[in-house]
Amino acid sequence: RVGPLRCGRVRDMEILEEIDSKRAWDVRSIDQDLIQKLTYDALVWSSLHGLVIGDKSIRRSGKVPGIGMNHAPFALLPLPFPESHFSEACELAPIFNELIDRVSLDAKFLQESLSRTKKVDAFTSRLLDIHSRMIEMNKKEDIRLGLHRSDYMLCEQTKSLLQIELNTISCSFPGFSSLVSELHRSLLIHHGKLLGLDSKRVPLNSTVSKFAEALAKAWTEFNNPRAVVMVVVSSEERNMYDQHWLFSVLREKHNVTTIRKTLAEVDEEGELLPDGTLVVGGQVIAVVYFRGAYAPIDFPSETEWRARLLVEQSTAIKSPSVSYHLAGTKKIQQELTKPNVLERFLDNKEDVARVRKCFAGLWSLDDPEIVNKAIERPDLYIVKPQREGGGNNIYGDDVRKTLLRLKGERIEEGAAYVLMQRIFPSVSLTPLIQDGICHEDDTISELGIYSTYIRNNEKVIMNEQSGYLMRTKISSSNEGGVAAGYAVLDSVYLT
Ligand code: ADP
Ligand code: MG
Ligand code: MG
Repeated sequence: RVGPLRCGRVRDMEILEEIDSKRAWDVRSIDQDLIQKLTYDALVWSSLHGLVIGDKSIRRSGKVPGIGMNHAPFALLPLPFPESHFSEACELAPIFNELIDRVSLDAKFLQESLSRTKKVDAFTSRLLDIHSRMIEMNKKEDIRLGLHRSDYMLCEQTKSLLQIELNTISCSFPGFSSLVSELHRSLLIHHGKLLGLDSKRVPLNSTVSKFAEALAKAWTEFNNPRAVVMVVVSSEERNMYDQHWLFSVLREKHNVTTIRKTLAEVDEEGELLPDGTLVVGGQVIAVVYFRGAYAPIDFPSETEWRARLLVEQSTAIKSPSVSYHLAGTKKIQQELTKPNVLERFLDNKEDVARVRKCFAGLWSLDDPEIVNKAIERPDLYIVKPQREGGGNNIYGDDVRKTLLRLKGERIEEGAAYVLMQRIFPSVSLTPLIQDGICHEDDTISELGIYSTYIRNNEKVIMNEQSGYLMRTKISSSNEGGVAAGYAVLDSVYLT
């Protein structure tokens, strides 16, 4: 039954008649030979199933598909996670979708909440300018498409699920999240008995098909059979295979064509017809899906801003529209935690209570009491600017330095940031596979819940939880994105 494995300790585990399926695994009790075998199988699986990213060291790997591919970094085994907290996070998904939609419609709330940030943050200011122009034009987004991911950590001390942030633009890994869960299920199907783990405790993960379904449904609402979905991408993208997974499902399952364009190309090839139809390179665009254009670096010149404005002015369905983008900023996240703000947007009291329960402490920097507390204990807080994509937050002693610097005459500048309670999830020793090598490290994890939302005027066409992604990172690193090499893709083992 054990097959080619020949290692002493494995035999002890063979006698496990029944799997205690709710038991969490401990890497220290797993035989090293078995770890090596699992690693090998996992590397084969990821190569054969396209769980791959471009290799940094190969020049064209971010431009030409099929050139310089490496397996994506992943955790060898799915992370044990309480079923109750997993369900709690899933159940929040449709409520957050509705909340984002409501907030996006309140132009005054967005403009006022971000008015001080606008003065000191040039990037947010440009987005707000586009937003203002749309208000002046009386531009309405009748069909709204949300492809979101709400991220959480489980606070070890209070055992509560706390939201890190909600992403409304360019949520990464809808393709890979499904793949990593499949990889883990496959490993447990083949080796679960030896490990004492049950593959069925890794929840099915349909992000890729749900995101494709949402894009297809939005395309259908646009109601032009010749129109295509346009993905706005960076000119170089080592994470292109995660994107291609989505578009391949969109094409094969829904027969919808995707074109990839950079903002510069949209500017060059794009035009608006008198009725507002967006045409790029001669093709009518039904849906614009941003997998870029969320950071200042994506806007090196006026060209890119012109393209962003062109898209917003058009009748194409945008994921996200500028109002959805703004609704996903950290400043708005912080405003929503203030008393009686959620109540403005959510009608159901139970929904308000559930959402509030997952809010961590968030403050603006003009609250002197909390700023002084954070200067005294900077390790308990994080300072966050209005940025996306990782690597932008301020930690540790830099929190103190930043707050002291901003306290004096530079108080205005503080409006660029929010202050957040630092969450401490439990640390566990995890086997991580990076660069074909398995190594064990102390890690913490962040659970992302994807959700999809489509609305056409009064009609809600789709509003659901749409898969999950666990990201596991070395506990000593503050942020560490997957691409940056500090975090790995992971899935869930329900306990
Ligand atoms: P981004 O939009 O750049 O992803 P995040 O708010 O998600 O910004 O922060 C990036 C990373 O920083 C998170 O993935 C998480 O690892 C860490 N982080 C953010 N906020 C907190 C917090 N309150 N407590 C602990 N870690 C956090
Ligand atoms: Mg984000
Ligand atoms: Mg994040």
